[in-house]
Amino acid sequence: MSKPKIVILGAGYGGLVTAIRLQKKMRRNEMDVTLVNKHDYHFITTHLHMPAAGTDHHDNARVTISDLIDERKIRFVKSTVREILPSDKKIVLEDATLDYDYLVVGLGSETETFGIPGMHEYAMSIKSINSVRFIRQHIEYMFAKSKVAPKRKDYLTFVVGGAGFTGTEFVGELADRIPVLCKTYDVDPVDVRIYNVEASSSALPPGLPVDLVEYGMEVMRRKGVQYKLSTAIKECTSEGVILSNGEFIRAGTVVWSGGIRGNSLLQEAGFEVQRGRVKVDSCLRSYQFPEIFITGDCSIVTSPEGTPYPANAQIAVQQGYNAARNLIQTVRGKEMKPFVYDFKGTVATLGRGEAVGLLKVKKVKGRLALFIKKMIDARYLYLIGGIPLVWKKMVWKQRSTT
Ligand code: FAD
Ligand code: NAD
Repeated sequence: MSKPKIVILGAGYGGLVTAIRLQKKMRRNEMDVTLVNKHDYHFITTHLHMPAAGTDHHDNARVTISDLIDERKIRFVKSTVREILPSDKKIVLEDATLDYDYLVVGLGSETETFGIPGMHEYAMSIKSINSVRFIRQHIEYMFAKSKVAPKRKDYLTFVVGGAGFTGTEFVGELADRIPVLCKTYDVDPVDVRIYNVEASSSALPPGLPVDLVEYGMEVMRRKGVQYKLSTAIKECTSEGVILSNGEFIRAGTVVWSGGIRGNSLLQEAGFEVQRGRVKVDSCLRSYQFPEIFITGDCSIVTSPEGTPYPANAQIAVQQGYNAARNLIQTVRGKEMKPFVYDFKGTVATLGRGEAVGLLKVKKVKGRLALFIKKMIDARYLYLIGGIPLVWKKMVWKQRSTT
């Protein structure tokens, strides 16, 4: 009898963990597993705000996939998925077509611009290694450019759209990077402006207690960040942003962190989606195509009360565990185990030496919160690459940011 073919799309948090768990738990010759990813590396999305601002090297936020998987057990294909054909159980890659019996979709998210004019064209987003290299280079270019056009104060004006976790973490790093760039490019720090524009009445996500939000915003203000709250960006142009109050901020750099949506390949494949994401059953399968498991930012999992959980790495990793276990159960003809999200907490960094968060219900802030964040990072690295990876990425890491 031929072995069941399992194809995993995307080597992000959900897809990679599914592959690693299958590799560990499946029996020899039990299934034929293929992992597809557009790069030959896994990127640690949760670190990307640092290389984007230039406070860390982008190589510290990526790991070569062949260092993480055993290619005698899992076939790795470096390619871009062009199309998912669920009715034919086929995947069209840029250079080949794959068949599957079971599919795991972990293709992550895309930037949600809510149709704001000019946002796609003129703003940058923190999405990948390529995008953060670009943001970092652009910031430095603006500093260099400001010295040959001293009247153009807008070259040193930075607008970050959205003050959720991504916007906040990036702004914290950017504010820390400014003094270094001012020194390098002989710029007076008073000429630099950082605006964080947020449509709701406060920064940081609504689930965080008010005192932690106030603490976080105070840390940012001390670093020189100027908030524009209860103010939405209405349009982005090549010159800056137009706000809901009619104000125009002329800026050489606009970074958009106003939200995410699921990978558009799902909608194009005929899945029913909400903001590009697919609502999955209790075992993470599509209701329309039960042989397809969907993990991470592409999926919507609801709490017992019916509210969707936020898209984050924590849930994607836990989904990876569950998808791998249920694939094995399915192949062995056994009953699957429903996915139960174990919310351990959430911590957001606020630049150097500062963070805020919740551990279950316990509030943490300052250096303690930052230490916990580092422990969370270390735990993930240990999970995917053991102690050698923790050592390489957290101790013996690339120091230079160039
Ligand atoms: P991803 O990790 O995004 O992986 C998707 C993979 O699919 C990538 O490898 C990509 O290259 C690949 N791919 C995409 N399209 C294709 C294609 N067409 N063909 C082939 N391959 C493709 N969450 C937390 O819980 N804690 C945090 O501290 C945290 N910090 C964050 C900081 C930042 C700056 C950002 C942007 C996000 C952060 N998040 C955090 C959110 C978290 O990173 C995401 O929820 C998580 O990465 C989702 O995992 P995923 O497996 O769905 O997708
Ligand atoms: P988000 O959707 O959580 O936040 C986007 C923010 O942009 C919101 O506050 C929204 O009000 C604002 N916004 C939307 N439209 C706007 C407009 N026109 N003008 C101004 N502001 C506007 O998106 P995110 O911060 O990218 O986070 C995405 C997911 O990743 C979330 O689930 C988050 O929890 C997760 N994440 C977690 C961490 C962490 O745990 N440390 C870090 C980053 C991201």
